[in-house]
Amino acid sequence: MMTIADNLNQVMSRIRQAAAEAGRNAEQITLLAVSKGHPTLSIKQAYQAGCRQFGENYLQDALAKINDLSHIDDIQWHFIGPLQSNKTRKVAENFDWVHSIDRLKIANRLNADRPPDLKPLNLCLQVNIDDEASKSGVTPVELTELALAVSKLPRIRLRGLMTIPRATDSLAEQRKPFQRLRQLFNELRAAHPQLSTMDTLSMGMSGDLEAAILEGATLLRVGTDIFGPRQAAR
Ligand SMILES: *Cc1c(COP(=O)(O)O)cnc(C)c1O
Repeated sequence: MMTIADNLNQVMSRIRQAAAEAGRNAEQITLLAVSKGHPTLSIKQAYQAGCRQFGENYLQDALAKINDLSHIDDIQWHFIGPLQSNKTRKVAENFDWVHSIDRLKIANRLNADRPPDLKPLNLCLQVNIDDEASKSGVTPVELTELALAVSKLPRIRLRGLMTIPRATDSLAEQRKPFQRLRQLFNELRAAHPQLSTMDTLSMGMSGDLEAAILEGATLLRVGTDIFGPRQAAR
């Protein structure tokens, strides 16, 4: 049977190979291990295999795991799921990053809720790159205004953009939305010097991490290919 450490080795070698193909340094690509739907024990195994950054979507489950592992001080927790305004306080108190911001209201609340003894909370803005009515994320048209507003919040550090494109098996098709996100990112930074804190393109999951690396991803969010299939969301 494949262990989490074996899976991680395979993912790391895929990252190295895609980075080599892209002429990029694999060291500059952060691997976020998405542990939603998996128990604390799995996170411990991934930690022992070298992971230090973990992504969670469901607040109650995440808080239990963060509590279980509170004696380990070099883990960074990333909140990557949809975030409702009544949950911002717990997120601001317990996480280092939030990737799923698509409304100023939520960013304002996180700014107000971030405890003064912690560093500013790192945020990525989620972009609805395929423009599907059903999905979360800000549209490319609304993005500039949101980015400029978020960049002014003192307890927030705007780090970049995140997207979850429509799934497809074709590498060429997978690359298109990632390329659009990178272009948006570059245009925003070029047009607005106050957005120079943006250094993160959070894109690429188990099924499309190669395409994301080829298009400049700096942070991959990988769940299934590290931890195996997960239990249904509660
Ligand atoms: C679950 C999830 C992932 C991980 O997806 P896998 O296909 O299991 O790698 C990445 N990003 C977000 C936002 C997720 O919700």
